Amino acid sequence: MINKSYPESIEESGGYLRIALKKIAQYNLPYNPISYLLWYEYATGRNENLIKDLEVFLNAKEVITIEVVTRLFKKHMADSQILMAEKKTKDFKKILLEMTKHLSESCNEIGSQGSLLDTFAQELVTSESLEDISVIANRIVLETKAVVESSKNLKTQLDSTVSEIDTLSKELEGIKQVAKTDMLTGLLNRRGFDGALYPVMEDIKTTHEALSVIMLDIDHFKRVNDTYGHLIGDNVLKMIGKLIKDSIKGKDIAARFGGEEFILTLPQTPLKGAYALAEQIRLNLQKMNLKIKDTGESIGQITISLGVALYKEGESIEAVIQRADNALYHAKNTGRNKTVTEAMLG
Ligand code: GH3
Ligand code: MG
Ligand code: MG
Repeated sequence: MINKSYPESIEESGGYLRIALKKIAQYNLPYNPISYLLWYEYATGRNENLIKDLEVFLNAKEVITIEVVTRLFKKHMADSQILMAEKKTKDFKKILLEMTKHLSESCNEIGSQGSLLDTFAQELVTSESLEDISVIANRIVLETKAVVESSKNLKTQLDSTVSEIDTLSKELEGIKQVAKTDMLTGLLNRRGFDGALYPVMEDIKTTHEALSVIMLDIDHFKRVNDTYGHLIGDNVLKMIGKLIKDSIKGKDIAARFGGEEFILTLPQTPLKGAYALAEQIRLNLQKMNLKIKDTGESIGQITISLGVALYKEGESIEAVIQRADNALYHAKNTGRNKTVTEAMLG
């Protein structure tokens, strides 16, 4: 099957694969789908913007880390992955149609042979001579063999179609997962957040339960990057992502909302409960003494500010996010490293 996103022949794709593997080895990157897809895309020469960005590193003879690869992947490829997922869905449908066609063709084949067997059986009933009977018996044996053969063909066809469908749906699942995940923290990205929140908002229309929103922003994060470099900054983001993930449960949703900003939605949670969770996250972070892995050097206190708001029935989700953001803004303006709820705004 020809894939429209990757129209190259087996030979060509083999060439791209070799280039990709060489690059992955050269930069000592993990052999994971992200680095493979990125370098494959680079090798095809089709993605001009990606090549431009990569050439900055290549020309400067800079080390290309998995963080760089991940960032470039997000920037240049995440969207095309979504497009690919859509194309995959179409491929999937095509295969199902083909399978149905094969099936009915093969059944018809068996059907006609089956009715031939019926005819023989009838002839058999009316045959008297041993000679006649043995002729018919021979025909039956031959015909039965043919029926068995054609059901074998059917089975082989079905088996290969089923395994093709299986591979496609796994690929599709993988691509969908990549498209809704923030690669750095493993939390949902904004698109994933929208997708996960939709059913929650639908539920609320009938259950009328409370839903709180927490916005979280790292304090003076620019300083962390400026002092320790972007990679350490990335590790801090990962660590805070994990802290958030470990702090939520059940139907709670956590996502990376933007650069160093996170959002949490907490169903069945009133403002007070959300404030308590926000404070728990803030204080747990405060207890941590973050160190640079290689040197053991402490990077000092990293703090966060949080804003909390409660969803009002009938309003848009954007409206409550805006109020949580206003509360966060207030937390920033009154000293940072604190949680402010909309109720405190007066
Ligand atoms: P404030 O306390 O007011 O929030 O100050 P701030 O420095 O955290 O906020 P500002 O919006 O000025 O800067 C945000 C910084 O976050 C700037 C940007 O370089 C950094 N940042 C955003 N995304 C990433 C990322 O993926 N990795 C790293 N390392 N830094 C990021
Ligand atoms: Mg910040
Ligand atoms: Mg910010």
